Parts: sequence; structure tokens; C-alpha cells
Amino acid sequence: MSEVLLRTVRRVGTSGAPSDVRVVDGRVTAVAPAGTLEATDADTDVVEAAGAWLGPGLVDHHVHFDQWALVRRRVDVSTADSAEATADLLHAVARTGVADRVLIGHGYRDGMWPRPPRRELLDRVDPRLPVVVISGDLHAVWCNAAALEHFSGVLGRPLSTGDDGVLREQDAFDVTGALSRVPDEVLDGFVADAVDAAAARGVTRVRDLEMVFGLDRWTRRVQAGTDGLRVDSGVYPNDLDAAVARGLRTGDVVPGTRGLVRMGPFKVITDGSLGTRTAAMTSGGGVLAYAFEDLVEMVRRAVDAGLVPAVHAIGDRANTLALDVFETVGARGTIEHAQLLADTDVERFARLGVAASVQPEHAMDDRDVADRYWAGMTDRAFPFASLDRAGATLLLGSDAPVAPLDPWVSMAAAVGRDRGGREPWHPAERLAVLTAWRGSTEGGRVGVAVGDVADLVLLEADPLDTTGSGPLRRARVLGTAIAGRFTHRDV
Ligand SMILES: [Zn+2]
Repeated sequence: MSEVLLRTVRRVGTSGAPSDVRVVDGRVTAVAPAGTLEATDADTDVVEAAGAWLGPGLVDHHVHFDQWALVRRRVDVSTADSAEATADLLHAVARTGVADRVLIGHGYRDGMWPRPPRRELLDRVDPRLPVVVISGDLHAVWCNAAALEHFSGVLGRPLSTGDDGVLREQDAFDVTGALSRVPDEVLDGFVADAVDAAAARGVTRVRDLEMVFGLDRWTRRVQAGTDGLRVDSGVYPNDLDAAVARGLRTGDVVPGTRGLVRMGPFKVITDGSLGTRTAAMTSGGGVLAYAFEDLVEMVRRAVDAGLVPAVHAIGDRANTLALDVFETVGARGTIEHAQLLADTDVERFARLGVAASVQPEHAMDDRDVADRYWAGMTDRAFPFASLDRAGATLLLGSDAPVAPLDPWVSMAAAVGRDRGGREPWHPAERLAVLTAWRGSTEGGRVGVAVGDVADLVLLEADPLDTTGSGPLRRARVLGTAIAGRFTHRDV
């Protein structure tokens, strides 16, 4: 038996009367007034929590974990407000000589730039060194001439762009994919660091929607001791047959992973993105990746094999299509992003049992771009409160590396729809803090009760007692545990 005794915690969702909480073999077995529970064993891990707030572990419902682990080590250009400023940032790094093979920037958003990107600006950073900048939404990469030549060789096909040097959609995904092919042991080291960082923000589980089928990679990592997160690892159409052949249904534990790795959802992308202007719009424009009949067939095959669909849809036309697919197949699942919705589609989420898997920080990153490209439509963009009122289940996530893998950032953006002192954007769509919290916790739980699996966080302050988004963004996590085992501990 292994026992953990948490002394003097206040439980989220209660008035805050101090309690002792006992965890035995990974489950909460007792909750009692503070000072009344004793350790039953000499080996009991006694945690003096001194009034810290105890809640369920946090979940990030949409991450690209390997990308995130890689991006954490790339040049962050997200603060640059023009093509020239981006090139200057990269130039400063190039001069330090740290990039020996390829100089990689990450996070540019050109929707509001006064002038579009130009290849020549990156040629000037370094004419011989391949320089590539990945857009914040991952749907575009901006290259210099050396990078275009380099990646044409790596991918074995000519890559051509206009004067902007920008590759979009599949070309961009292929280049990003090539950049991600670092040796396993290197990547696993990056991932181990990123797992620790996630645990330090209270995360106990992620839904990993990395484009490369991940069950074997995560199994290898857990077996090598990277055991600080639970991971639901999704599968894309390319690997659907391979996934089906394993006979694992969504939610099944992958053998040899100590219960940490589970088969995730079947992820399929139906359209592009707002930032790259490829989201499929009812008003016209954008791209649809599949015909309706093909989507239905693919989703049906996945559902028949026990896989839960997670359908990426950004534009209103893509969301209508995705809901139509769920309705036709008769399956439940999630729509990933749900950024722009037709008024008539909002109520369909609850009715069809489709959860809205949303990334609130995208609204903060993209509010100006949306005001420009979705002008006149932004009252139905990122409609969190409308979805909640209509009875939909909201699941919060980061889409890391698009936004930081930090549920507090997601919750703050959902609750405040503000950042950096700006006025809230469409404040009517702000989410109640309780809904944001439940969209970020294991199983949508508010608090901790006897019988729960002891995936837990210890917090400095009550997350539900917050006015405004600032305190949420800065929330301090004192401890994180998976099945009673601490993955982060500051108490
Ligand atoms: Zn994503």
C-alpha cells in the first residue's frame, strides 16, 4: 500500500473549510476536517499543505506535444509586429552563431503587418544559412532562398513561392515535419523538459494531436522514465489503418505504459485556419480538405473501430460540414477549434453530443486578424458563452505550440477575453470561471471527492474566486500529482 496524507487543504468548490485528504494506492479514500486524519503507515508521504487549495488535475485537450517540445527551443518571433522586425530578431540570433544547420523562428502572425513578408528580408539575415519562420497557426512557413533549396532537397520535390517566400498548407506542414525530424534521443530529451514544465502548471493529462502517430513514441518515453503526464495520443487518416489494426479503442490504455498512455481520438482536418486565410467560409473562400461523402466514410470507419472523432473546423462552413458529418454518422465526439459558427449551428453541439474543443488564447492572438478578415462576423467568433448557454460541453486547450501549453492562459483568455491591458473582445462571450475551470479539469470535475483517482493540483489561491483574468494567468501551482504521485512539488 502507498499512502499520501494531504494535511490542511482547502478544497476547490467548497467554502474553504480546512480538510485533511487521504490518498491510498492512487485514489482519494478519505476527506475529513483538518487535524483529524493520521498517517497509518511509517512510509506515508505527509504533505503539510498549509491551506493550499486542492483541485482535480488539469487537462490540455489539444496539444501537438512534439512540436511544442521543439518550439520551446526555437526563436520566438511572436512579438514582432512587422516582417522587418521579424527579420531583425532573427538577424540578432544568426549573429550569435547558435544555428549551425537551419535557423528556425516560430510564431509570426502577418495578418496585421503593414507590409507582407518578403523572401529577400530573410536572405539578408544570412544568404547561406537556411532561414525558416513558422507561422503562429502552423499553416504557413516563410523561407529564404537557401531554405527553399534546402527543403526541396530534403523533401525531394521542388518548392516554389512568390516573392514572399511563403509556403502554405501541405507544403508548410511538410517543411515543419522535416524540421521536426531530429534524432529520437534528442527529441525525447526536449519532450522530458516540456513534460516537467506542463506538470509545473498543474497539467496531469494532455490530448496529443501530433500529426505523427504517437503511441510507440510515448510508450518508449514512459519506459525511459518520462512519466509526468497522462497522454491520450490521437491518430490521423494516414495512420487510421495502422491504428485500427492494433485493436485499441479511444480511451484504451496502451500496454506497457503503467496506465499513462491511452489511445486518443481520430483526428481529421476539414479546413485551414483564420491566420492563413484558409478557413472554409460560408461567405466564400478558404479550403475544404475533403468532400462530405469522403469525410462521412472515413469517420464511419473510425467510429466502427471504436475511435472517437475529433474534427478540426475553423470557418463557419467547415463547422456546418463537421456537424453534418456527426449527424449523418450518428457519432459523438469533438469539434476542434469551432472558431466561427453560424447562429443555427450553436445549438447543434449539445443536441448531437459534440463537445466544442476550444483554444481561448487564439481569440487573443487573432482578435485583430478576425476583426479584419471576419469583419461583421466576429460576434459569432469564438462564441464560448453562447455554446455554454446552448448546453454544449466546452473543453479547453492550447493547441500548443500555437499558444503556450498552460491551462491558466486558456482559462484566463476564456474568462476575460482580454490580454495585456486591452479592453475585452466581445465581452458577451466571456465564459464563467466555473465553466472555464470545468473545461480544464479531469472529467470536468469541480472539486476532489472520495473515490476519485488522485490526479490533483495544489494551488496558492482558489481558482473560482477570481475577478478578471490577471490572477488566473499568474496562478501559482504548488503541487501536481498523478494517482497520488507528485510530478511537481513546491510544498
Ligand atoms: Zn491543433
